[in-house]
Order: sequence, then structure tokens, then C-alpha cells
Amino acid sequence: MRSAVSLRQCAKHLLLMVSAITLLASPAWADEEVVVYSARNEQLIKPLFDSYEKATGVRILFLTDKEGPLLARLKAEGTNTPADLLLTVDAGNLWQAAQEGLLQPVDSAVLQNKIPAHLRDPDNLWFGLSVRARTIVYNPQRVKPEELSTYAALAEPQWNKRLCLRTSNKVYNQSLVAMLIAENGEARTEEIVRGWVNNLATPPFADDNSALLAVAAGQCDVTLVNTYYLGRLLKEDPNLPLKIFWPNQQVDNSGTHVNISGGGVTRHARHPEAARKLLEWLASDEAQAAFAGVNLEYPVNPKVDVAPIVAAWGEFRQSPLNVAFAGAHQADAVRLMDRAGYR
Ligand code: FE
Repeated sequence: MRSAVSLRQCAKHLLLMVSAITLLASPAWADEEVVVYSARNEQLIKPLFDSYEKATGVRILFLTDKEGPLLARLKAEGTNTPADLLLTVDAGNLWQAAQEGLLQPVDSAVLQNKIPAHLRDPDNLWFGLSVRARTIVYNPQRVKPEELSTYAALAEPQWNKRLCLRTSNKVYNQSLVAMLIAENGEARTEEIVRGWVNNLATPPFADDNSALLAVAAGQCDVTLVNTYYLGRLLKEDPNLPLKIFWPNQQVDNSGTHVNISGGGVTRHARHPEAARKLLEWLASDEAQAAFAGVNLEYPVNPKVDVAPIVAAWGEFRQSPLNVAFAGAHQADAVRLMDRAGYR
């Protein structure tokens, strides 16, 4: 992650470059560049952008920041924004950007063919580019996989003082609870979340990593995290006592909760065609393995193989609910978690 200072420098640098380009630009080569605002980390996108530039000659100028400041910036810049493409994590954030009128629809047969329908906006305002599964991780020294089944079952008394969770402030958990609302309704979801809170072994953690390390250390037995955090930890220490369980896999269950990182073309893009082409390339068989693989995520494009460490976790059935529900029920989810005492 960049420091605040280097971000400011980068922003200044980008604006300087953009204004210089605006001054110099002639219609003949106006489409030969794309400006990207990205909440996906620089180290995850830079190598891909480099390959794209090399393959196409199109120049990519980009700025990375947290999603909140990026959305605020897009909004404040309005019609003057230099940004053509917004990349961010979590469908909740993409939904928010769409809701605030910051994106424009993209009619692309390529994107529709490459990306399953539940991983993109029904109105084509944003598209998933990688899948992150939010699943159960347990300590095999303290839990048998037969004891596990669904997200809801972690609310049962057998898990009393055995559950660790990340804070409810993080959009990942807001999206998870929003998807549970879409699936089970508010009343049942509130029972589930209250059960989780009752079962907490420790106060909620600031991040997924800390929750995983607490499970490995025996402070609690089970947690809910995005799989790539586990992947990163296991890369450093393959002997950590941490195993994945895919919840909600029975026929009458919905499937494991997934979210996306993804992108959309900005409402006031100066290079909407170039932005669409870059999105299409990011969804291509060629780019998908690298886009997902570099962060140990799952490709959205089902034809593309996953990284070996990810393949070792086996296959699972994704919830087929459209990830747009993560945004649509986000405010309800935040209020529900607050009522349930989930901090
Ligand atoms: Fe993350």
C-alpha cells in the first residue's frame, strides 16, 4: 500500500500528466490512452497494465487509492474527471458508484460471454473481474469438518466462545450479511448475526489476517474470511493449522458467498471505447489467470484455471445470487449488524 505522501505525489503527477496530455491531444490519437482510478493495489494491476501497453500500444495512466477517496474524487470532479475506468473491490462499492451516477452502461458481447451473469451488474454498469470467496476457515486440531455446514450454523450454541470475526465496519462483512438478507430475509439473518455475536471468543478483529492468526493460535476455532488471505499466510507457512470449509454446499443451500473485484466505465469518460476494450481484455482468457492469480483469487471467466495453491482447496458451488444484492441490501445490513451488537 502506498503511503499518503506518495499517493499525493502520484495524484499530482497524474494530474500533471493528464493536463499535459489534454493540451497536446489531437483527435487522431485521443483513443490511445486510458485513465484508470483503482482501489485495487498497484502491485496487483501494474504488471497487467504493462502487458496491455506492450501488446496494444495504448497508454494507461492510473491512480490508486482507497475506494472511499476515489469515489469522492470522481464525484467531485464531475464532468471534468480525467478517469475513464474505475476499478475497485467489492460489489457493494461498485453498486455504490453506479447508484451515485458515476458509471455508464457498457454494451459488450465479450463481457457478457466471459463473465457469468451473477458477477456483473444487470444494467451493465459494472463487471466482475475476479471472484473472492468469503468462507469458513477452521483449526483442524480443534474442529472436524463434519461439524461444519452453513454460515447460519455458526450461530448455534455448539460454537459458543469458539468463533472469531473481523469487524462489521469492513465492507466484506457488510456484503456477506447483505447477501444473507437477500437469501433469508431480515428477521432470520438477524437471528444468525445475533448467534454469531453470542459465540464470539474475542472482540472482532481489524482484518481477516488477524482473525486467521487467532484461529491458528487456538484463541478461537473457526472464522469467516476471504480465501486469498489464507493463501498468503499458507505461502509463508504451509504448516499453519488452518483449513478451508466451503459452506452452504448441500442441495437445499444457496452455495458459498462470493464477491468480486471489478470495474466500470466512468459516466464522463473521455475515452469510453478504450476503457471498454481494456475491460474486455481484463476479462479475456489471456489476462484472467494473471488478474486473479496475482492475488490468489478466482477468475470470473470459468474457462481459466486457478493458481495451484487455490486449486488445492477443491471446487465449490458459488451462490448464484447476483452480487448486486451486496449493494442493494448494504444499508440494511449495517443497521442489522448494529442492532445485533456486532461491532
Ligand atoms: Fe482484501
